[in-house]
Amino acid sequence: MLDHKLLEVHNLKKYYPVTGGLFSQHLGDVRAVDDVSFDIKEGEALGLVGESGCGKSTLGRTILRLEEPTEGQIIYRKTDITRLNQRELRGLRQEMQMIFQDPQSFLDPRMTVGQSIGEALLIHGVRDDKEREQRVIEILERVGLEGQQGLRYPHEFSSGQRQRIGIGRALILNPKLIIADEPVSALDVSIQAQILNLMLDLREEFGLTYLFIAHDLSVIKYVSQRVAVMYLGKIVELASRDEIFQNTRHPYTEALLSAIPGITQKKKTRIILPGSVPSPINPPAGCRFHTRCHRVLPLCHQEEPNLRDIGNEHLVACHLYRG
Ligand code: SF4
Repeated sequence: MLDHKLLEVHNLKKYYPVTGGLFSQHLGDVRAVDDVSFDIKEGEALGLVGESGCGKSTLGRTILRLEEPTEGQIIYRKTDITRLNQRELRGLRQEMQMIFQDPQSFLDPRMTVGQSIGEALLIHGVRDDKEREQRVIEILERVGLEGQQGLRYPHEFSSGQRQRIGIGRALILNPKLIIADEPVSALDVSIQAQILNLMLDLREEFGLTYLFIAHDLSVIKYVSQRVAVMYLGKIVELASRDEIFQNTRHPYTEALLSAIPGITQKKKTRIILPGSVPSPINPPAGCRFHTRCHRVLPLCHQEEPNLRDIGNEHLVACHLYRG
């Protein structure tokens, strides 16, 4: 793994305005992503985990500019891509691809999968039919399908095969960064392992960098070298995989891990989180987790903790570690 940063995210925010009333007054904002900073080194796999609705998918989409950021900076290979126009972005889009949870959503049922995969090549200027066909066959074979299957339609494939097609479609343009949004959560457990192993092999072979988004900590543990934990629009803990799983600090991460027997070496008592995740329109004052935290302090109601390094490149946003 190289030691330079492929992606840097600085103070990124993605707010969705909430309007109402006769004149569509601005009533507030859904703060889906709220002041998030992190980086990913070239060749690294960073796992992003959190409950559903915590903002992790929005973060992934905003990094790729599929959603426009409200504030903050996205630096890709030392270029600030935050305000590039769509024409300027096009060249970089080739290098930054997304794998979705449901490949059905981007596979046109009226096109063969070969046409769907080849379309990306056409958009990016590969006009020669023979070359496109050859590259589609090669990529289908690389993701574990047969080249001839490119002549079939999406409904003729199983869900696992469709995800292989989704991976092939992301890889056809030789990307450097892949944002994988819950790529195995819709699959049977036996198929999940095959797809995860395929993604790990491809990372080695093509030198890919992953932002791997999932709600399942077992999946995150399997594929990631570092892990970021997100709660209500913010990263609350970020560290190497070993630090997160063996030296857990944030009470939210503790609760998530305690729900999965055997995921850490230490025996843990199950921590039941009371209530549900508060609304991102009106997040709790102070620490956003204080309404559910089993270790809450009086200070937590008033002051928001910053994400700070407590040593060993282990970052935590919690008043228990003020130093
Ligand atoms: Fe819990 Fe307070 Fe830490 Fe927030 S800052 S996680 S409420 S102890």
